[in-house]
Amino acid sequence: MAGCGPASKIRRLDTEVFSRVPGAGVDNVKNLVDWPAYATGGLQDAALAAGHPPSHLAEHFAGRKTIYVSSSCSGMGTFEHCMKRLAAACAGAVENTGVKFWSASECDKAVRDMLLQSSGCPEHVFGDLTERVDSKVLARMKHAVGCLQQRAHELAATKQTPAQKKVELGKLNVRCMQKLLELAMEAVAADRGGASRCCYCYVHDQLCPLLPPGLDEDADSLLPKAGGNTCVSFSPQGKQAKWLHDSAVVAAVWLAWCAGHCDMVMQECSYFRGHANSVSPKDLGIPMNRPRNFSCTDRLRRLSMVTSLTSSLFLQLCGSELRCNGHDFFIFAEDAAHEYLQATTEKLLHGEVGFRNYLSEGCLRRLAEYETFYSKQLAEGKVVELPVVDLSQNVSVRATLSTMLPSLLTGSCVWSMKHNRPLTTLELFFAMGWPAPVVLDNDNFHAEFPFLQT
Ligand SMILES: [Zn+2]
Repeated sequence: MAGCGPASKIRRLDTEVFSRVPGAGVDNVKNLVDWPAYATGGLQDAALAAGHPPSHLAEHFAGRKTIYVSSSCSGMGTFEHCMKRLAAACAGAVENTGVKFWSASECDKAVRDMLLQSSGCPEHVFGDLTERVDSKVLARMKHAVGCLQQRAHELAATKQTPAQKKVELGKLNVRCMQKLLELAMEAVAADRGGASRCCYCYVHDQLCPLLPPGLDEDADSLLPKAGGNTCVSFSPQGKQAKWLHDSAVVAAVWLAWCAGHCDMVMQECSYFRGHANSVSPKDLGIPMNRPRNFSCTDRLRRLSMVTSLTSSLFLQLCGSELRCNGHDFFIFAEDAAHEYLQATTEKLLHGEVGFRNYLSEGCLRRLAEYETFYSKQLAEGKVVELPVVDLSQNVSVRATLSTMLPSLLTGSCVWSMKHNRPLTTLELFFAMGWPAPVVLDNDNFHAEFPFLQT
């Protein structure tokens, strides 16, 4: 193509800098927050390599279609935030694209309130996903799970061998899944064709339609669904009860809704196998090892993928070497960290000084255990770097100490043994890829952070 410069990847390969993985650019934590530039850089390179003009990505994003994005189990609106930033990197602003954030669903009030206050809040915010089906059907679904759970209890009390019990339990599980999906699919199908079902919306304080207008007639609109399904019953937390669990009703309603209405479903769920792609933050240059499974399903009569999304394609486009560690996310200077923690942490009175002052007794005890464990490893002659630890978890949970960030869970208390202090909430946001205004020398990051600071 005359007049077009070579793709940046080709330019990179042309130079002698081979230490970087192609498509990577993450040198330090401040770079990490600029992930949309790196992610779209990889896509841009791929498009150029395939012979498309440099404007290809922006044109593709702008498209002719209105893309009504809805998310479930929405949390803080992470998907919307990511989509907005990707759109901005490709087309200048999400307003220049066909993407409209139609709805989110979240049943936790505190999280929902946060979403409502965010500048990235979608047009409608609904509550519990089970409101999407008729209450009589919902009652039948709950009844079905209850009956089959009872059978599972009775089975456990029989004199069958563990192997036999496992087979029988498997059969009950399949039966429960089939019954729930059958009921939910019927309920969703019964609603199709008529006016959209309405549910209580927390943005407008009234009943609002679950579906965007004119979706069936307007072939140029698409309805992708993003976010995870409820997977608690498939996790160790749910004791692997799978479909024989109260939350299976929610899972079935969600699946039936997606099957009945959505053109594309993107979800993260670690406990479903199949066509999922596994990606860990460390593959993207983030010092955290937490492989997650992602899947993308599309309705064939509406969409066709140009290429299938695989882990290797994803890594080729966005992969990066690991160049920073967990300690690098403790960005605040000592004074600023004290000021922030003083303002946001309840004063804890147990005679501790310095940053330990902000820790609960439980966290203090676990910190002492981690410190003992670390000293013991040194005494044994092992080469261990000062680690980053999660004080909400016992040392036994994380038997290997490392400089990687622990998995960020609700209630995590991340402590750096190098900086000897806890990670502040703003730094935690930053570690999760939000442009939290921690890097005080860059106004662009301030503008991107969607939450009010109080
Ligand atoms: Zn509404």
